[in-house]
Amino acid sequence: MLDDKNPKRTSLEELGEFGLINHLTKDFTLQHKSSIKGIGDDAAVLDFKNNKTVISTDLLVEGIHFDLSYMPLKHLGYKAVMVNLSDIYAMNAVATQITVSIAVSNRFPLEALEELYSGIGLAAKKYNVDVVGGDTTSSTKGMLISITAIGEAKEEDLVYRSGAKPNDLLVVTGDLGGAYMGLQVLEREKEVFKVNPNSNPDLSMYSYIVERQLKPEARKDIIPLLDALGVKPTSMIDISDGLSSEILHICDQSKVGCNLFEDKIPLDPTVISACEEFEIDSTTVALNGGEDYELLFTIDQKEFPKIKGNPNLTVIGHMTETNEGVHLISRNNSKIPITAQGWNSLAKA
Ligand code: ADP
Ligand code: MG
Repeated sequence: MLDDKNPKRTSLEELGEFGLINHLTKDFTLQHKSSIKGIGDDAAVLDFKNNKTVISTDLLVEGIHFDLSYMPLKHLGYKAVMVNLSDIYAMNAVATQITVSIAVSNRFPLEALEELYSGIGLAAKKYNVDVVGGDTTSSTKGMLISITAIGEAKEEDLVYRSGAKPNDLLVVTGDLGGAYMGLQVLEREKEVFKVNPNSNPDLSMYSYIVERQLKPEARKDIIPLLDALGVKPTSMIDISDGLSSEILHICDQSKVGCNLFEDKIPLDPTVISACEEFEIDSTTVALNGGEDYELLFTIDQKEFPKIKGNPNLTVIGHMTETNEGVHLISRNNSKIPITAQGWNSLAKA
């Protein structure tokens, strides 16, 4: 696929490591006062004055976390940044810097890395984070990307997974299940393409869910929104693995139980219709699909009037005493225990 679109292939050896780093990062500028020294020395230097520093790292491996047969490299770069920024926002912090480390085999030409870095650069610009360093090395097979995101927050603004209390409301941003259904569509098209390489699928009816998979957006907007509403969550987490596993993390770390109401789970109409087409239960997809990069948080009940009616926020349940357990209250009012299914077991179903 890559070769069709990119006829020019410059081998990485032609540039050498320093030439490559310089070429890929030459357009990056520093926007934050806290970025004292960026790319070019042995280490970056940051200064957050009186604020706390928040750091999170993710490692993405070709064949495990991404498939380049349908993931354009520009999207991959963008998504790799989103995955990390989402973790910073889940601490109720502002993301300010990233470092980007890559390992690539010799099957990738310079043009491929330019594509990857155009996505990284676009994400960094749009989300206002400075690229302050990284590492570049070769791999025997495939591509690895590791991004570290750095952010800052006042100590009193930080939100952990551990602060939820019984009777707190459980709130989610946006809608769920889109990224997983987008993946189903892309996997199906990949199979069709294997049989008929000339197929030119019309995916326009799936554009929302395919975008949710290929070009997710981290919820940077929610941090100032909560601030403007005067709401500080008691606990928060981002939805990378699926609603059920994130709820279990909050319950575990906060020592509370939870009742989640099936009929409250926000689903986009495209997700509902794709679930019908693929004959998958939409609740299962929302619970176990993952990669939605929405935020899940708890608030004290008395804060409800402040968030009520906000189109970005949906109350989907409430926390209970820990001995009451973690349950889904289904549409027909039965109480189903929530277990961590995770992404892979669903893929097999
Ligand atoms: P070192 O040998 O000390 O690891 P490098 O030559 O790898 O240093 O890196 C030189 C500079 O370029 C450093 O500032 C490093 O953070 C930065 N850098 C290296 N690789 C990347 C990359 N893939 N993306 C962004 N910055 C990078
Ligand atoms: Mg290095």
